[in-house]
Amino acid sequence: MHPSTLQISVARLRDEGLDIHLKLSEEWFARWQEEDPNLEFAGPGELAVQVHLERHGHDILVRGHLEGTLNLHCSRCLASFGLPVEADFDLLLAPGPEQLNEEEEELTRADLDRDFYTGETVNLESILREQVLLTLPLKPLCAETCKGICPHCGADLNQEPCQCPAEESTSPFGKLKNIKL
Ligand SMILES: [Zn+2]
Ligand SMILES: [Zn+2]
Repeated sequence: MHPSTLQISVARLRDEGLDIHLKLSEEWFARWQEEDPNLEFAGPGELAVQVHLERHGHDILVRGHLEGTLNLHCSRCLASFGLPVEADFDLLLAPGPEQLNEEEEELTRADLDRDFYTGETVNLESILREQVLLTLPLKPLCAETCKGICPHCGADLNQEPCQCPAEESTSPFGKLKNIKL
């Protein structure tokens, strides 16, 4: 999929709106990762996206659904795993300031919750990236029951228990016993 597929010309929006169906996979994730090296994906994911764009006066309504799998690192055991995600979104994009006369501009500035589109284009690429980021858990886990990595010897405790003394590796209070009063 060419990057320009996701730059939607406002002129394409007819009265009935515009429906877009996309599959985002390796190429899309690779481009994103390249432009944003801080991303913490373990690899490309797979997303099916449906978006409906519609004009509402000066504004553009963007209503969408995304569904698929993201590839993440578990925050406890560091293994990569596929996280199923699903999200609906509803955005109202106001025209960027340069498209409004002064009076309208003041109104828009007062309304800071709004997203904007600029020029004659809706940047669906950045909208979709933002929506994908919103689906990411703060602490991704491969499983709720993930035992993580032993802080002492580094063994993956999902594979097998390590040889560290049980109270030290599992109990957060283990160290208290060593404190001399
Ligand atoms: Zn894990
Ligand atoms: Zn250990």
